[in-house]
Amino acid sequence: MSRNFVKIVLMLLRPPISCDLLSHPLLDQKQVALQVLRLDQVHPEVSGNKFFKLRYNLQEALNQNHQQVLTFGGAYSNHIYATAAAAKEVGLTAVGIIRGESLDSKNPTLNFAKSAGMRLIGVSRTQYREKSQPAFLELMRQKFGNFYLIPEGGTNTFAIQGAREILSSSQSDTSHVLVPIGTGGTFAGIAASIFSHQKLLGISALKGEGIRDEITKLLRAESIQTNGSIELVTQYHQGGYAKWTAELISFIHWFWEKFDIPLDPIYTGKMAFACWDLLKKNHFPPGSRILMVHTGGLQGNRGFTQRTGIVLPTPVL
Ligand SMILES: *Cc1c(COP(=O)(O)O)cnc(C)c1O
Repeated sequence: MSRNFVKIVLMLLRPPISCDLLSHPLLDQKQVALQVLRLDQVHPEVSGNKFFKLRYNLQEALNQNHQQVLTFGGAYSNHIYATAAAAKEVGLTAVGIIRGESLDSKNPTLNFAKSAGMRLIGVSRTQYREKSQPAFLELMRQKFGNFYLIPEGGTNTFAIQGAREILSSSQSDTSHVLVPIGTGGTFAGIAASIFSHQKLLGISALKGEGIRDEITKLLRAESIQTNGSIELVTQYHQGGYAKWTAELISFIHWFWEKFDIPLDPIYTGKMAFACWDLLKKNHFPPGSRILMVHTGGLQGNRGFTQRTGIVLPTPVL
């Protein structure tokens, strides 16, 4: 208990997060400043937005005297990876329900989760769709014992509470904030924390316009009214969730060569690609001070290489 207590106190402090100011002739030409908030560096394993989304959930799990958390995800999920590491750090055991029956023994995400002590079970896609139903959860309770449930992608009220802390007062002179969207939990938390002179752009990683309703519902359910303005950008999904184009891959390489910042192809690559394209199209008025929130996800690059053979710039973890 005392060990958990110390760790949790550490998790409660907002760690210092570096912010890189980019330099490029196009930025001068368009008279804008572009910065990247490096959430990917916040923790070696509980990286990116998942650090913020998980910490109040873990605190709540401990407050409720749980010994264990259970969550869900795809086989290359950043959420699974981060949850395995974070649960271990605070002394909770973890169960990961993975979409797809056979768990690939070469999958680097799952191997990391396993090495962090997470118990993994693969379920069929049909079963996975029913994962939040009481019957399935009851089955899991019988199998693993009681647990604190963290939803897929980690988005709930506690996650949004954490995401409200992503921006700090040193970012208050920013005019535009860009963040990738999966479930929208991170977007919702940032929307709740921006000032009246700020605009939040959410770059959807998913195909289609359905995300607009999802975000509206989420903001309403969480009673979030933003002081600033928000915009959803839906044309940079590159074919859909976890889909990619050659153009995206070369952009990720270009971005690394120019700015020394690694990106992932699922979320942050699409956001940075969108940012650069919008910049070229004069979406940001002269004088804009743009901040991209680098939400991490770099652990997924190794799995991406395993699936596609394409090597991406990735820091050694
Ligand atoms: C999970 C994740 C997101 C999506 O966050 P949501 O809160 O679900 O919108 C964005 N970027 C990265 C790198 C992620 O791992």
